[in-house]
Amino acid sequence: MSIRQIPLLLEGSFQESASSERLPVRNPANQEVLAEVPFATHGEVNRAVAAAKEAFKSWREVPPPARARIMLSYQHLLKAHHDEIAEILAKETGKTFADARGDVWRGIEVVEHACNISSLLMGETVENVANGIDTYSMIQPLGVCVGITPFNFPAMIPLWMFPLAIACGNTFVLKPSEQDPMTPTRLAELFLEAGAPKNVLQVVHGGRDQVDQLLAHPDVHAISFVGSAPVAEHIYRTGTHNLKRVQCFAGAKNHMVVMPDAQPQQVINNLIGASCGAAGQRCMAISVALLVGESKNLVPQLAEAFKVMRPGVWNDSSAAYGPVISPKARQRILDLVQIGKDEGATCVFDGSQVTVPDHETGNWVGPVLFSGVKADMQIYREEIFGPVLLCMEVDTLEDAIALMNANPFGNGCSIFTASGAAARKFQHEIEVGQVGINVAIPVPLPFFSFTGWKKSFLGDLHAYGKQGVRFYTETKTITSRWFDEDIAHAAPNMTISLK
Ligand code: NAD
Repeated sequence: MSIRQIPLLLEGSFQESASSERLPVRNPANQEVLAEVPFATHGEVNRAVAAAKEAFKSWREVPPPARARIMLSYQHLLKAHHDEIAEILAKETGKTFADARGDVWRGIEVVEHACNISSLLMGETVENVANGIDTYSMIQPLGVCVGITPFNFPAMIPLWMFPLAIACGNTFVLKPSEQDPMTPTRLAELFLEAGAPKNVLQVVHGGRDQVDQLLAHPDVHAISFVGSAPVAEHIYRTGTHNLKRVQCFAGAKNHMVVMPDAQPQQVINNLIGASCGAAGQRCMAISVALLVGESKNLVPQLAEAFKVMRPGVWNDSSAAYGPVISPKARQRILDLVQIGKDEGATCVFDGSQVTVPDHETGNWVGPVLFSGVKADMQIYREEIFGPVLLCMEVDTLEDAIALMNANPFGNGCSIFTASGAAARKFQHEIEVGQVGINVAIPVPLPFFSFTGWKKSFLGDLHAYGKQGVRFYTETKTITSRWFDEDIAHAAPNMTISLK
């Protein structure tokens, strides 16, 4: 049987790439080759940008309510195909079906936000800024925008980008992760089915070479990137050096502060889900529990809860989570667990060497719990991106805040407490962009923005919400005057003429 070849979406149709460079897309639960993804040729990437540039001329003239209607159809289609997309996603990422549905749903919510594009594009007006003169602003699209997305949310993150960018009147070139390109391909098919004009969206596949070509392309105006911190730095530096508008969402090390007055079972349930859910491969996963004072006594209970958690295949509804994305990712996690032990952290529970019956070749990593972790250890300094939770013991809330503020990342965090005063101090003083109060993973809904800080975000304007619209648009400010009649003499002095 021939292997499915992932097509490019180029010049309005799905086409097989001419490239001879291809990677297998594997089911992480058994290494089965699901498809092959091409690394687009130089010419194909150029054709994608050229087609998007040409399409921009007419798409920018389409009235925003008409663009919104396409987004409404798209939202409807995505909902109708919710489970079908989730199944594709679950098979190529290994996520459980419930988690895969969540990935799709969080993307659909951004499309719903894009349906409001007309009101989001409203400018401002001040009448009579001087006698007979009005000033107003309008918000206009940029041109060709590019999105480069990671493996861990192959539905949600592409949907953070292209629907909003296109609703703003731009055209878009998407370069999805080469590790799970089937889900974004399905999203693109449904986008065309929803009535999107040909060429407003192009999809090219590849890796560093294709991304670098896009970063340097003179007809690309803006770049959205989501992925690991080192790649984010490369993209931000190169993109801005090339005078593009760039936003980069990068890696994380998210902490949960547990105060002694927090409800213990709530803490344990939330810590398990937030650290091991999706095999810890979420940028908002909690990877560090900061146990304040007596809450350090929760470690044995946590260990018991870790012991009963086990990974499984996507359609096993009793599985807590699935395999990690690749054998390489698995090995990296196992190596870091060993490093943690060598560094002197206490490995309270090590379930990492686990296998799943009938799926022995899967990239399985069982849950791992450390305590006694110190800030100078490599397992604390690096993003592990696996089902590994580090417990650190601190005496006071002030100590917890100081430790977190010294961490270079600032994506998400949470505090579990019964004290309003502690929660308020925490939300005020913490240098992290997304804060949960008795909410472990505080991902904002799309009418807000996704606001990581520090090394977790490079740029100025964040994803979706009003900031996403600002990122994908430019503001034009118009000062206008209409004469009733001509005057007798010239008035060269600007201040006088404005009086
Ligand atoms: P990654 O950085 O390896 O890849 C991301 C994208 O960049 C892919 O499309 C890939 O093809 C491309 N890429 C890889 N190396 C490149 C290079 N050298 N030059 C140019 N492009 C390159 O990330 P990943 O492993 O796919 O995703 C996981 C990472 O993404 C984690 O670090 C996670 O924290 C982060 N992430 C962050 C957020 C956020 O909002 N902050 C959200 C999701 C994921």
